Amino acid sequence: MPVGAPVTRLRTLVVVLGDQLDIEAAAFDGFDPVQDAVWMAEVEEESTHVWSSKQRIALFLAAMRHFAQALQAAGRTLHYRRLDDPGNRGSLAAELQATLATLAPQRVVMTAPGDWRVWQALKAVVEGAGLVLEVRDDRHFFGTVREFAAHAKGRKALRLEYFYRELRQRHGVLMQDGQPAGGRWNFDADNREAFGPAGPGAVPPRATFEPHALTREVIALVETRFARHPGTLAGFAWPVTRAQALQALERFVLQRLPLFGRFEDAMWPGEPWLYHSQLSAALNLKLLTAREVVNAAEVAYHAGQVPLQSAEGFVRQILGWREYVRGIYWTQMPGYADRNALDARQDLPAWYWTGNTDMACLRDVLAQTLRHGYAHHIQRLMVTGLFALLLGVRPQQVHAWYLAVYVDAVEWVELPNTLGMSQYGDGGLMASKPYVATGKYIQRMGGPCAGCRYDPALRTGGRACPYSTLYWDFLMRHEKQLAGNARMALQAKNVAQLPQADRSAVARRADAIRIGAPGTVG
Ligand SMILES: Cc1cc2nc3c(=O)[nH]c(=O)nc-3n(C[C@H](O)[C@H](O)[C@H](O)COP(=O)(O)OP(=O)(O)OC[C@H]3O[C@@H](n4cnc5c(N)ncnc54)[C@H](O)[C@@H]3O)c2cc1C
Ligand code: SF4
Repeated sequence: MPVGAPVTRLRTLVVVLGDQLDIEAAAFDGFDPVQDAVWMAEVEEESTHVWSSKQRIALFLAAMRHFAQALQAAGRTLHYRRLDDPGNRGSLAAELQATLATLAPQRVVMTAPGDWRVWQALKAVVEGAGLVLEVRDDRHFFGTVREFAAHAKGRKALRLEYFYRELRQRHGVLMQDGQPAGGRWNFDADNREAFGPAGPGAVPPRATFEPHALTREVIALVETRFARHPGTLAGFAWPVTRAQALQALERFVLQRLPLFGRFEDAMWPGEPWLYHSQLSAALNLKLLTAREVVNAAEVAYHAGQVPLQSAEGFVRQILGWREYVRGIYWTQMPGYADRNALDARQDLPAWYWTGNTDMACLRDVLAQTLRHGYAHHIQRLMVTGLFALLLGVRPQQVHAWYLAVYVDAVEWVELPNTLGMSQYGDGGLMASKPYVATGKYIQRMGGPCAGCRYDPALRTGGRACPYSTLYWDFLMRHEKQLAGNARMALQAKNVAQLPQADRSAVARRADAIRIGAPGTVG
Protein backbone atom coordinates (compact mmCIF):
# COMPACT_ATOMS: atom_id res chain seq x y z
CA MET A 1 0.00 0.00 0.00
CA PRO A 2 1.43 3.43 -0.88
CA VAL A 3 2.57 5.50 2.13
CA GLY A 4 -0.22 7.78 3.32
CA ALA A 5 -2.93 6.00 1.30
CA PRO A 6 -6.22 5.63 3.18
CA VAL A 7 -6.76 2.24 4.79
CA THR A 8 -9.20 0.54 2.43
CA ARG A 9 -12.12 -1.51 3.65
CA LEU A 10 -11.81 -5.28 3.37
CA ARG A 11 -13.31 -6.25 0.01
CA THR A 12 -14.27 -9.91 0.46
CA LEU A 13 -14.50 -12.14 3.48
CA VAL A 14 -14.38 -15.79 2.37
CA VAL A 15 -16.13 -18.06 4.86
CA VAL A 16 -14.61 -21.55 5.06
CA LEU A 17 -16.34 -24.25 7.09
CA GLY A 18 -14.77 -27.37 8.58
CA ASP A 19 -15.91 -29.52 5.65
CA GLN A 20 -14.67 -27.10 2.96
CA LEU A 21 -10.92 -27.61 3.17
CA ASP A 22 -10.09 -27.12 -0.51
CA ILE A 23 -7.77 -24.31 -1.50
CA GLU A 24 -9.10 -24.52 -5.08
CA ALA A 25 -12.77 -24.16 -3.99
CA ALA A 26 -15.03 -21.76 -5.90
CA ALA A 27 -15.16 -19.40 -2.91
CA PHE A 28 -11.51 -18.53 -3.64
CA ASP A 29 -12.10 -17.61 -7.29
CA GLY A 30 -10.77 -14.08 -7.80
CA PHE A 31 -9.23 -14.02 -4.30
CA ASP A 32 -6.85 -11.09 -3.94
CA PRO A 33 -4.53 -11.42 -0.94
CA VAL A 34 -4.31 -7.63 -0.70
CA GLN A 35 -8.03 -6.91 -0.50
CA ASP A 36 -9.58 -10.17 0.70
CA ALA A 37 -9.39 -12.40 3.78
CA VAL A 38 -10.51 -15.82 4.93
CA TRP A 39 -12.59 -16.59 8.03
CA MET A 40 -12.67 -19.92 9.87
CA ALA A 41 -13.97 -20.76 13.33
CA GLU A 42 -13.88 -23.73 15.68
CA VAL A 43 -16.97 -23.57 17.89
CA GLU A 44 -18.48 -25.74 20.59
CA GLU A 45 -21.93 -25.93 18.98
CA GLU A 46 -20.67 -27.97 16.02
CA SER A 47 -19.55 -30.70 18.42
CA THR A 48 -22.56 -30.63 20.71
CA HIS A 49 -25.71 -30.06 18.61
CA VAL A 50 -25.45 -33.81 18.26
CA TRP A 51 -23.31 -35.65 20.81
CA SER A 52 -20.29 -35.96 18.49
CA SER A 53 -17.78 -38.70 18.99
CA LYS A 54 -14.24 -37.80 19.96
CA GLN A 55 -12.92 -39.21 16.67
CA ARG A 56 -15.24 -36.99 14.65
CA ILE A 57 -14.45 -33.82 16.61
CA ALA A 58 -10.71 -34.47 16.50
CA LEU A 59 -10.72 -35.18 12.77
CA PHE A 60 -12.54 -31.96 11.90
CA LEU A 61 -10.43 -29.78 14.19
CA ALA A 62 -7.11 -31.34 13.16
CA ALA A 63 -7.95 -31.03 9.47
CA MET A 64 -9.07 -27.41 9.95
CA ARG A 65 -5.86 -26.44 11.73
CA HIS A 66 -3.73 -28.04 9.04
CA PHE A 67 -5.75 -26.28 6.37
CA ALA A 68 -5.27 -22.97 8.19
CA GLN A 69 -1.52 -23.55 7.95
CA ALA A 70 -1.82 -24.23 4.22
CA LEU A 71 -3.78 -21.00 3.71
CA GLN A 72 -1.18 -18.99 5.58
CA ALA A 73 1.61 -20.64 3.61
CA ALA A 74 -0.22 -19.56 0.45
CA GLY A 75 -0.17 -15.95 1.69
CA ARG A 76 -3.89 -15.64 2.40
CA THR A 77 -4.90 -13.44 5.30
CA LEU A 78 -6.78 -15.61 7.75
CA HIS A 79 -9.02 -14.76 10.69
CA TYR A 80 -9.10 -18.03 12.62
CA ARG A 81 -10.96 -18.55 15.87
CA ARG A 82 -9.75 -21.47 17.98
CA LEU A 83 -12.04 -23.42 20.25
CA ASP A 84 -9.82 -22.66 23.23
CA ASP A 85 -9.49 -18.92 22.49
CA PRO A 86 -10.75 -16.96 25.51
CA GLY A 87 -14.12 -15.44 24.70
CA ASN A 88 -14.97 -17.91 21.93
CA ARG A 89 -18.71 -17.32 21.50
CA GLY A 90 -19.54 -20.98 20.91
CA SER A 91 -21.49 -20.80 17.64
CA LEU A 92 -20.63 -20.07 14.04
CA ALA A 93 -23.34 -17.44 13.86
CA ALA A 94 -22.14 -15.53 16.92
CA GLU A 95 -18.51 -15.68 15.82
CA LEU A 96 -19.28 -14.51 12.28
CA GLN A 97 -21.47 -11.71 13.55
CA ALA A 98 -18.63 -10.42 15.71
CA THR A 99 -16.16 -10.65 12.82
CA LEU A 100 -18.47 -8.78 10.46
CA ALA A 101 -18.86 -6.02 13.03
CA THR A 102 -15.07 -5.68 13.36
CA LEU A 103 -13.91 -6.14 9.78
CA ALA A 104 -16.94 -4.67 7.96
CA PRO A 105 -16.23 -6.42 4.66
CA GLN A 106 -17.95 -5.26 1.49
CA ARG A 107 -19.13 -8.77 0.71
CA VAL A 108 -19.17 -12.29 2.12
CA VAL A 109 -18.59 -15.31 -0.09
CA MET A 110 -18.70 -19.03 0.58
CA THR A 111 -18.86 -22.33 -1.26
CA ALA A 112 -22.26 -24.07 -0.95
CA PRO A 113 -22.32 -25.57 2.56
CA GLY A 114 -23.22 -29.15 3.52
CA ASP A 115 -25.76 -28.48 6.22
CA TRP A 116 -29.10 -26.65 5.99
CA ARG A 117 -28.96 -25.48 9.64
CA VAL A 118 -25.53 -23.88 9.20
CA TRP A 119 -26.48 -22.26 5.91
CA GLN A 120 -29.60 -20.70 7.42
CA ALA A 121 -27.71 -19.43 10.46
CA LEU A 122 -24.89 -17.83 8.45
CA LYS A 123 -27.26 -16.33 5.90
CA ALA A 124 -29.25 -14.66 8.69
CA VAL A 125 -26.10 -13.18 10.21
CA VAL A 126 -24.79 -11.85 6.91
CA GLU A 127 -28.16 -10.37 5.99
CA GLY A 128 -28.44 -8.92 9.48
CA ALA A 129 -25.20 -7.03 8.73
CA GLY A 130 -26.81 -5.55 5.63
CA LEU A 131 -24.90 -7.75 3.18
CA VAL A 132 -25.78 -10.58 0.81
CA LEU A 133 -24.20 -13.99 1.35
CA GLU A 134 -22.82 -15.03 -2.05
CA VAL A 135 -22.97 -18.84 -2.23
CA ARG A 136 -20.97 -20.42 -5.06
CA ASP A 137 -21.49 -23.89 -6.58
CA ASP A 138 -19.31 -26.58 -5.06
CA ARG A 139 -17.07 -27.83 -7.88
CA HIS A 140 -16.03 -30.76 -5.71
CA PHE A 141 -19.09 -32.61 -7.02
CA PHE A 142 -19.71 -33.78 -10.57
CA GLY A 143 -23.13 -32.15 -10.80
CA THR A 144 -25.08 -29.29 -9.29
CA VAL A 145 -28.23 -29.47 -7.20
CA ARG A 146 -29.99 -27.65 -10.08
CA GLU A 147 -29.10 -30.54 -12.42
CA PHE A 148 -30.45 -33.04 -9.92
CA ALA A 149 -33.66 -31.02 -9.56
CA ALA A 150 -34.04 -31.01 -13.36
CA HIS A 151 -33.56 -34.79 -13.42
CA ALA A 152 -36.09 -35.26 -10.61
CA LYS A 153 -38.73 -32.93 -12.05
CA GLY A 154 -41.93 -34.72 -13.03
CA ARG A 155 -40.72 -38.15 -11.83
CA LYS A 156 -43.03 -39.97 -9.43
CA ALA A 157 -40.19 -41.95 -7.91
CA LEU A 158 -36.48 -41.24 -7.88
CA ARG A 159 -34.11 -44.09 -8.56
CA LEU A 160 -30.38 -44.04 -8.45
CA GLU A 161 -29.89 -46.13 -11.56
CA TYR A 162 -31.23 -43.59 -14.11
CA PHE A 163 -29.49 -40.68 -12.48
CA TYR A 164 -26.21 -42.60 -12.33
CA ARG A 165 -26.37 -43.56 -16.02
CA GLU A 166 -27.01 -39.94 -16.97
CA LEU A 167 -23.93 -38.84 -15.04
CA ARG A 168 -21.74 -41.62 -16.50
CA GLN A 169 -22.74 -40.48 -19.98
CA ARG A 170 -22.44 -36.76 -19.32
CA HIS A 171 -18.99 -37.10 -17.78
CA GLY A 172 -17.77 -39.95 -19.99
CA VAL A 173 -16.87 -42.15 -17.01
CA LEU A 174 -16.24 -45.85 -17.83
CA MET A 175 -17.77 -45.33 -21.27
CA GLN A 176 -16.68 -46.79 -24.59
CA ASP A 177 -18.12 -45.51 -27.88
CA GLY A 178 -21.19 -44.16 -26.10
CA GLN A 179 -21.83 -47.49 -24.32
CA PRO A 180 -20.94 -48.56 -20.78
CA ALA A 181 -17.54 -50.27 -20.59
CA GLY A 182 -18.02 -54.05 -20.68
CA GLY A 183 -21.50 -53.64 -22.18
CA ARG A 184 -23.27 -53.41 -18.79
CA TRP A 185 -24.13 -50.56 -16.47
CA ASN A 186 -24.36 -52.70 -13.42
CA PHE A 187 -22.27 -55.45 -11.85
CA ASP A 188 -24.19 -55.55 -8.56
CA ALA A 189 -25.00 -59.24 -8.93
CA ASP A 190 -21.25 -60.04 -9.00
CA ASN A 191 -20.60 -57.83 -5.98
CA ARG A 192 -22.42 -59.71 -3.25
CA GLU A 193 -19.89 -62.37 -2.30
CA ALA A 194 -19.28 -63.40 1.29
CA PHE A 195 -15.93 -64.79 2.51
CA GLY A 196 -17.02 -68.29 3.39
CA PRO A 197 -16.26 -70.13 6.64
CA ALA A 198 -12.49 -69.49 6.48
CA GLY A 199 -13.00 -65.74 6.58
CA PRO A 200 -11.19 -63.06 4.60
CA GLY A 201 -7.63 -64.26 5.31
CA ALA A 202 -4.94 -61.59 5.31
CA VAL A 203 -6.39 -58.19 4.41
CA PRO A 204 -3.93 -55.39 3.47
CA PRO A 205 -3.21 -53.20 6.51
CA ARG A 206 -5.09 -49.94 6.80
CA ALA A 207 -3.29 -46.75 5.70
CA THR A 208 -2.59 -45.02 9.01
CA PHE A 209 -1.18 -41.55 9.65
CA GLU A 210 0.81 -40.84 12.79
CA PRO A 211 -0.62 -37.64 14.32
CA HIS A 212 1.60 -34.55 13.79
CA ALA A 213 2.13 -32.04 16.58
CA LEU A 214 -0.95 -30.05 15.53
CA THR A 215 -3.11 -33.16 15.64
CA ARG A 216 -1.69 -34.20 19.01
CA GLU A 217 -2.60 -30.76 20.34
CA VAL A 218 -6.16 -31.24 19.09
CA ILE A 219 -6.36 -34.72 20.60
CA ALA A 220 -5.37 -33.32 24.00
CA LEU A 221 -7.96 -30.55 23.65
CA VAL A 222 -10.75 -32.99 22.74
CA GLU A 223 -9.78 -35.36 25.55
CA THR A 224 -10.25 -32.61 28.13
CA ARG A 225 -12.99 -30.48 26.63
CA PHE A 226 -15.17 -33.34 25.36
CA ALA A 227 -14.13 -35.99 27.87
CA ARG A 228 -17.65 -37.40 28.23
CA HIS A 229 -18.33 -37.67 24.50
CA PRO A 230 -18.51 -41.14 22.94
CA GLY A 231 -15.57 -43.11 21.64
CA THR A 232 -11.85 -42.99 22.18
CA LEU A 233 -8.90 -41.24 20.56
CA ALA A 234 -6.32 -43.93 21.20
CA GLY A 235 -5.12 -44.96 17.77
CA PHE A 236 -6.43 -41.89 15.91
CA ALA A 237 -4.90 -42.36 12.46
CA TRP A 238 -7.09 -40.60 9.86
CA PRO A 239 -5.56 -38.51 7.08
CA VAL A 240 -5.89 -34.82 8.05
CA THR A 241 -4.08 -33.10 5.17
CA ARG A 242 -4.46 -33.23 1.42
CA ALA A 243 -1.06 -34.88 1.05
CA GLN A 244 -2.07 -37.65 3.45
CA ALA A 245 -5.43 -38.08 1.74
CA LEU A 246 -3.68 -38.49 -1.62
CA GLN A 247 -1.46 -41.17 -0.10
CA ALA A 248 -4.52 -42.96 1.28
CA LEU A 249 -6.13 -42.87 -2.17
CA GLU A 250 -3.03 -44.29 -3.83
CA ARG A 251 -2.80 -47.12 -1.27
CA PHE A 252 -6.47 -47.95 -1.70
CA VAL A 253 -6.29 -48.19 -5.48
CA LEU A 254 -3.21 -50.41 -5.36
CA GLN A 255 -4.13 -52.66 -2.45
CA ARG A 256 -7.90 -52.78 -1.94
CA LEU A 257 -9.73 -51.70 -5.05
CA PRO A 258 -9.04 -54.94 -6.97
CA LEU A 259 -11.21 -56.90 -4.51
CA PHE A 260 -13.53 -54.03 -3.55
CA GLY A 261 -16.33 -55.14 -5.89
CA ARG A 262 -16.37 -58.82 -4.95
CA PHE A 263 -16.52 -58.22 -1.22
CA GLU A 264 -18.39 -54.91 -1.13
CA ASP A 265 -21.26 -56.35 0.94
CA ALA A 266 -19.28 -58.83 3.03
CA MET A 267 -18.48 -58.49 6.72
CA TRP A 268 -16.33 -60.31 9.23
CA PRO A 269 -16.05 -59.89 13.00
CA GLY A 270 -12.99 -57.93 14.11
CA GLU A 271 -12.27 -56.81 10.52
CA PRO A 272 -13.50 -53.23 10.19
CA TRP A 273 -11.73 -52.23 6.97
CA LEU A 274 -11.82 -55.24 4.60
CA TYR A 275 -11.59 -53.93 1.02
CA HIS A 276 -13.24 -50.56 1.62
CA SER A 277 -11.51 -47.32 0.73
CA GLN A 278 -11.96 -45.47 4.07
CA LEU A 279 -11.92 -42.31 1.97
CA SER A 280 -15.34 -40.91 2.85
CA ALA A 281 -14.05 -38.53 5.53
CA ALA A 282 -11.28 -37.16 3.28
CA LEU A 283 -13.84 -36.71 0.51
CA ASN A 284 -16.40 -35.04 2.73
CA LEU A 285 -13.85 -32.65 4.24
CA LYS A 286 -12.91 -31.87 0.58
CA LEU A 287 -9.30 -32.94 1.04
CA LEU A 288 -9.91 -34.99 -2.11
CA THR A 289 -12.19 -34.19 -5.02
CA ALA A 290 -14.79 -36.68 -6.20
CA ARG A 291 -13.35 -36.40 -9.71
CA GLU A 292 -9.81 -37.35 -8.76
CA VAL A 293 -11.02 -40.36 -6.79
CA VAL A 294 -13.23 -41.60 -9.63
CA ASN A 295 -10.47 -40.88 -12.11
CA ALA A 296 -7.95 -42.91 -10.10
CA ALA A 297 -10.26 -45.94 -10.23
CA GLU A 298 -10.85 -45.53 -13.94
CA VAL A 299 -7.14 -45.21 -14.73
CA ALA A 300 -6.42 -48.37 -12.73
CA TYR A 301 -9.12 -50.22 -14.68
CA HIS A 302 -7.71 -49.10 -18.04
CA ALA A 303 -4.22 -50.10 -16.89
CA GLY A 304 -5.51 -53.62 -16.22
CA GLN A 305 -4.83 -53.37 -12.46
CA VAL A 306 -8.45 -53.54 -11.39
CA PRO A 307 -11.34 -55.64 -12.75
CA LEU A 308 -14.31 -53.78 -14.19
CA GLN A 309 -16.72 -55.06 -11.51
CA SER A 310 -14.59 -53.37 -8.85
CA ALA A 311 -13.99 -50.15 -10.77
CA GLU A 312 -17.70 -49.85 -11.64
CA GLY A 313 -18.83 -50.81 -8.13
CA PHE A 314 -16.61 -48.11 -6.65
CA VAL A 315 -17.50 -45.43 -9.22
CA ARG A 316 -21.21 -46.16 -8.62
CA GLN A 317 -20.76 -45.27 -4.93
CA ILE A 318 -19.23 -41.90 -5.66
CA LEU A 319 -20.54 -40.73 -9.03
CA GLY A 320 -23.84 -42.48 -8.24
CA TRP A 321 -24.88 -42.65 -4.59
CA ARG A 322 -22.89 -39.74 -3.26
CA GLU A 323 -24.19 -37.29 -5.88
CA TYR A 324 -27.69 -38.74 -5.62
CA VAL A 325 -28.04 -38.34 -1.85
CA ARG A 326 -26.76 -34.78 -2.10
CA GLY A 327 -29.50 -34.00 -4.62
CA ILE A 328 -32.12 -35.57 -2.36
CA TYR A 329 -30.93 -33.57 0.65
CA TRP A 330 -30.90 -30.17 -0.99
CA THR A 331 -34.14 -30.63 -2.92
CA GLN A 332 -36.05 -32.03 0.09
CA MET A 333 -34.83 -29.92 2.99
CA PRO A 334 -35.91 -28.61 5.41
CA GLY A 335 -39.01 -30.84 5.70
CA TYR A 336 -37.06 -34.03 4.99
CA ALA A 337 -35.45 -34.16 8.44
CA ASP A 338 -38.87 -34.45 10.14
CA ARG A 339 -40.28 -37.28 8.03
CA ASN A 340 -41.39 -40.47 9.75
CA ALA A 341 -43.42 -42.42 7.19
CA LEU A 342 -43.62 -45.57 9.32
CA ASP A 343 -44.64 -43.61 12.43
CA ALA A 344 -41.76 -45.13 14.40
CA ARG A 345 -41.79 -44.03 18.05
CA GLN A 346 -39.29 -46.10 20.04
CA ASP A 347 -36.27 -44.49 21.65
CA LEU A 348 -32.83 -45.50 20.41
CA PRO A 349 -31.49 -48.07 22.91
CA ALA A 350 -28.95 -46.42 25.22
CA TRP A 351 -26.40 -49.13 24.42
CA TYR A 352 -25.94 -47.71 20.90
CA TRP A 353 -23.61 -45.24 22.66
CA THR A 354 -21.63 -47.90 24.55
CA GLY A 355 -21.80 -51.14 22.55
CA ASN A 356 -22.97 -52.95 25.66
CA THR A 357 -25.33 -55.53 24.15
CA ASP A 358 -25.40 -59.30 24.02
CA MET A 359 -26.05 -59.38 20.27
CA ALA A 360 -22.64 -60.29 18.86
CA CYS A 361 -23.04 -58.52 15.50
CA LEU A 362 -24.14 -55.25 17.06
CA ARG A 363 -21.48 -55.47 19.77
CA ASP A 364 -18.80 -55.87 17.10
CA VAL A 365 -20.01 -53.01 14.87
CA LEU A 366 -20.65 -50.64 17.77
CA ALA A 367 -17.22 -51.36 19.27
CA GLN A 368 -15.41 -50.56 16.02
CA THR A 369 -17.63 -47.50 15.48
CA LEU A 370 -16.74 -46.07 18.88
CA ARG A 371 -13.09 -46.96 18.46
CA HIS A 372 -12.53 -45.63 14.93
CA GLY A 373 -15.59 -43.55 14.01
CA TYR A 374 -16.00 -45.95 11.12
CA ALA A 375 -18.17 -48.79 9.87
CA HIS A 376 -18.57 -49.85 6.26
CA HIS A 377 -21.81 -49.53 4.36
CA ILE A 378 -23.33 -52.95 5.00
CA GLN A 379 -22.58 -52.67 8.71
CA ARG A 380 -24.34 -49.28 8.82
CA LEU A 381 -27.29 -50.42 6.70
CA MET A 382 -27.78 -54.04 7.72
CA VAL A 383 -26.56 -54.16 11.33
CA THR A 384 -27.02 -50.85 13.20
CA GLY A 385 -29.57 -49.38 10.78
CA LEU A 386 -31.57 -52.57 10.33
CA PHE A 387 -31.94 -53.15 14.06
CA ALA A 388 -33.24 -49.60 14.63
CA LEU A 389 -35.66 -49.94 11.71
CA LEU A 390 -37.02 -53.29 12.89
CA LEU A 391 -37.30 -52.09 16.48
CA GLY A 392 -39.25 -49.03 15.29
CA VAL A 393 -36.93 -46.25 16.52
CA ARG A 394 -37.80 -42.65 15.65
CA PRO A 395 -35.77 -41.80 12.52
CA GLN A 396 -34.73 -38.47 14.05
CA GLN A 397 -32.99 -40.27 16.92
CA VAL A 398 -31.29 -42.66 14.54
CA HIS A 399 -30.18 -39.67 12.46
CA ALA A 400 -28.72 -37.90 15.50
CA TRP A 401 -26.73 -41.02 16.36
CA TYR A 402 -25.28 -41.50 12.86
CA LEU A 403 -24.45 -37.81 12.58
CA ALA A 404 -22.63 -37.98 15.90
CA VAL A 405 -20.55 -41.12 15.69
CA TYR A 406 -19.01 -41.39 12.21
CA VAL A 407 -15.97 -39.39 11.14
CA ASP A 408 -17.46 -38.87 7.67
CA ALA A 409 -20.80 -37.59 8.95
CA VAL A 410 -21.99 -34.35 7.39
CA GLU A 411 -25.72 -33.84 7.21
CA TRP A 412 -26.14 -33.67 3.41
CA VAL A 413 -24.83 -37.23 3.07
CA GLU A 414 -25.76 -38.73 6.43
CA LEU A 415 -29.44 -37.71 6.59
CA PRO A 416 -30.73 -39.24 3.31
CA ASN A 417 -28.74 -42.41 3.98
CA THR A 418 -30.12 -42.75 7.50
CA LEU A 419 -33.64 -41.40 7.33
CA GLY A 420 -34.27 -42.44 3.72
CA MET A 421 -32.25 -45.49 2.77
CA SER A 422 -31.90 -47.12 6.15
CA GLN A 423 -35.09 -46.16 8.07
CA TYR A 424 -37.56 -45.75 5.17
CA GLY A 425 -38.64 -42.56 6.93
CA ASP A 426 -39.32 -40.83 3.61
CA GLY A 427 -41.78 -43.54 2.60
CA GLY A 428 -39.80 -44.71 -0.42
CA LEU A 429 -38.35 -41.56 -1.99
CA MET A 430 -34.79 -42.74 -1.57
CA ALA A 431 -35.18 -46.54 -1.56
CA SER A 432 -37.84 -48.51 -3.39
CA LYS A 433 -38.54 -50.69 -0.34
CA PRO A 434 -37.49 -50.95 3.28
CA TYR A 435 -34.18 -52.81 3.65
CA VAL A 436 -35.43 -55.51 6.02
CA ALA A 437 -34.02 -58.98 6.67
CA THR A 438 -33.74 -61.60 9.40
CA GLY A 439 -30.55 -62.50 11.22
CA LYS A 440 -29.91 -65.06 8.50
CA TYR A 441 -28.85 -62.28 6.15
CA ILE A 442 -26.24 -61.12 8.68
CA GLN A 443 -25.09 -64.72 9.14
CA ARG A 444 -24.78 -65.24 5.37
CA MET A 445 -22.74 -62.08 4.88
CA GLY A 446 -20.22 -63.08 7.54
CA GLY A 447 -21.77 -61.95 10.83
CA PRO A 448 -20.58 -63.53 14.10
CA CYS A 449 -23.68 -65.68 14.63
CA ALA A 450 -21.64 -68.77 15.49
CA GLY A 451 -20.37 -67.03 18.61
CA CYS A 452 -23.66 -65.40 19.57
CA ARG A 453 -26.09 -66.54 22.24
CA TYR A 454 -28.92 -66.15 19.71
CA ASP A 455 -29.84 -68.27 16.72
CA PRO A 456 -30.70 -66.48 13.48
CA ALA A 457 -32.88 -69.37 12.29
CA LEU A 458 -35.29 -68.91 15.23
CA ARG A 459 -37.93 -66.22 15.41
CA THR A 460 -39.56 -67.14 18.71
CA GLY A 461 -38.34 -68.49 22.04
CA GLY A 462 -35.51 -67.45 24.34
CA ARG A 463 -32.75 -68.13 21.81
CA ALA A 464 -34.46 -66.43 18.87
CA CYS A 465 -32.27 -63.87 17.13
CA PRO A 466 -33.81 -60.44 17.85
CA TYR A 467 -33.41 -59.49 14.17
CA SER A 468 -35.43 -62.53 13.12
CA THR A 469 -38.20 -61.86 15.64
CA LEU A 470 -38.36 -58.17 14.83
CA TYR A 471 -38.32 -58.81 11.08
CA TRP A 472 -41.60 -60.74 11.31
CA ASP A 473 -42.99 -58.27 13.77
CA PHE A 474 -42.10 -55.42 11.37
CA LEU A 475 -43.91 -57.14 8.50
CA MET A 476 -46.94 -57.74 10.71
CA ARG A 477 -47.03 -54.15 11.99
CA HIS A 478 -46.73 -52.67 8.50
CA GLU A 479 -48.66 -55.31 6.59
CA LYS A 480 -51.24 -52.89 5.18
CA GLN A 481 -48.83 -50.09 4.38
CA LEU A 482 -46.44 -52.37 2.49
CA ALA A 483 -49.13 -54.36 0.68
CA GLY A 484 -49.07 -52.06 -2.35
CA ASN A 485 -45.29 -52.26 -2.78
CA ALA A 486 -44.51 -54.67 -5.63
CA ARG A 487 -40.95 -55.18 -4.36
CA MET A 488 -42.33 -56.41 -1.02
CA ALA A 489 -44.80 -58.86 -2.61
CA LEU A 490 -42.94 -62.00 -1.52
CA GLN A 491 -42.56 -60.83 2.09
CA ALA A 492 -46.21 -59.72 2.14
CA LYS A 493 -47.25 -63.18 0.96
CA ASN A 494 -45.12 -64.91 3.59
CA VAL A 495 -46.46 -62.85 6.44
CA ALA A 496 -50.04 -63.30 5.25
CA GLN A 497 -49.51 -67.08 5.56
CA LEU A 498 -48.20 -66.92 9.12
CA PRO A 499 -50.55 -68.84 11.46
CA GLN A 500 -52.20 -66.82 14.22
CA ALA A 501 -50.35 -68.69 16.99
CA ASP A 502 -47.00 -67.77 15.40
CA ARG A 503 -48.07 -64.17 15.02
CA SER A 504 -48.93 -63.96 18.70
CA ALA A 505 -45.64 -65.58 19.73
CA VAL A 506 -43.67 -63.17 17.51
CA ALA A 507 -45.55 -60.16 18.86
CA ARG A 508 -44.97 -61.25 22.47
CA ARG A 509 -41.27 -61.76 21.96
CA ALA A 510 -40.95 -58.48 20.03
CA ASP A 511 -42.61 -56.64 22.93
CA ALA A 512 -40.13 -58.20 25.33
CA ILE A 513 -37.23 -57.05 23.15
CA ARG A 514 -38.70 -53.55 22.99
CA ILE A 515 -38.98 -53.16 26.72
CA GLY A 516 -35.51 -54.66 27.09
CA ALA A 517 -36.56 -57.58 29.28
CA PRO A 518 -33.52 -58.83 31.26
CA GLY A 519 -31.56 -61.42 29.37
CA THR A 520 -33.26 -60.53 26.11
CA VAL A 521 -31.34 -57.67 24.62
CA GLY A 522 -28.91 -55.13 25.98
C1 LIG B 1 -27.32 -45.33 7.78
C2 LIG B 1 -26.17 -44.86 6.93
C3 LIG B 1 -25.52 -43.68 7.25
C4 LIG B 1 -24.47 -43.22 6.44
N1 LIG B 1 -23.85 -42.05 6.77
C5 LIG B 1 -22.85 -41.57 5.98
C6 LIG B 1 -22.20 -40.35 6.29
O1 LIG B 1 -22.52 -39.70 7.28
N2 LIG B 1 -21.20 -39.92 5.48
C7 LIG B 1 -20.82 -40.63 4.37
O2 LIG B 1 -19.93 -40.19 3.66
N3 LIG B 1 -21.44 -41.78 4.04
C8 LIG B 1 -22.43 -42.28 4.81
N4 LIG B 1 -23.03 -43.46 4.47
C9 LIG B 1 -22.65 -44.15 3.23
C10 LIG B 1 -21.52 -45.19 3.38
O3 LIG B 1 -21.87 -46.11 4.37
C11 LIG B 1 -20.18 -44.55 3.68
O4 LIG B 1 -19.89 -43.55 2.72
C12 LIG B 1 -19.05 -45.57 3.64
O5 LIG B 1 -19.33 -46.63 4.51
C13 LIG B 1 -17.73 -44.91 3.99
O6 LIG B 1 -16.70 -45.86 4.04
P1 LIG B 1 -15.63 -45.98 2.86
O7 LIG B 1 -15.04 -44.65 2.58
O8 LIG B 1 -14.70 -47.07 3.22
O9 LIG B 1 -16.57 -46.36 1.66
P2 LIG B 1 -16.37 -47.34 0.41
O10 LIG B 1 -17.14 -48.56 0.63
O11 LIG B 1 -14.95 -47.48 0.07
O12 LIG B 1 -17.11 -46.51 -0.74
C14 LIG B 1 -16.42 -45.54 -1.52
C15 LIG B 1 -17.00 -44.17 -1.35
O13 LIG B 1 -18.30 -44.10 -1.91
C16 LIG B 1 -19.07 -43.14 -1.22
N5 LIG B 1 -20.31 -43.81 -0.79
C17 LIG B 1 -20.52 -45.13 -0.65
N6 LIG B 1 -21.81 -45.37 -0.33
C18 LIG B 1 -22.41 -44.17 -0.25
C19 LIG B 1 -23.72 -43.75 0.06
N7 LIG B 1 -24.71 -44.61 0.34
N8 LIG B 1 -23.97 -42.44 0.06
C20 LIG B 1 -23.01 -41.55 -0.21
N9 LIG B 1 -21.76 -41.88 -0.52
C21 LIG B 1 -21.45 -43.17 -0.54
C22 LIG B 1 -18.26 -42.67 -0.03
O14 LIG B 1 -17.73 -41.41 -0.33
C23 LIG B 1 -17.17 -43.71 0.08
O15 LIG B 1 -15.96 -43.18 0.58
C24 LIG B 1 -24.08 -43.95 5.28
C25 LIG B 1 -24.74 -45.14 4.99
C26 LIG B 1 -25.78 -45.59 5.79
C27 LIG B 1 -26.48 -46.85 5.43
S1 SF4 C 1 -27.67 -64.41 15.89
FE1 SF4 C 1 -28.69 -62.51 15.43
S2 SF4 C 1 -27.98 -61.10 17.02
FE2 SF4 C 1 -26.58 -62.83 17.03
S3 SF4 C 1 -24.90 -62.23 15.66
FE3 SF4 C 1 -26.39 -63.35 14.41
S4 SF4 C 1 -27.71 -61.79 13.57
FE4 SF4 C 1 -26.61 -60.85 15.27
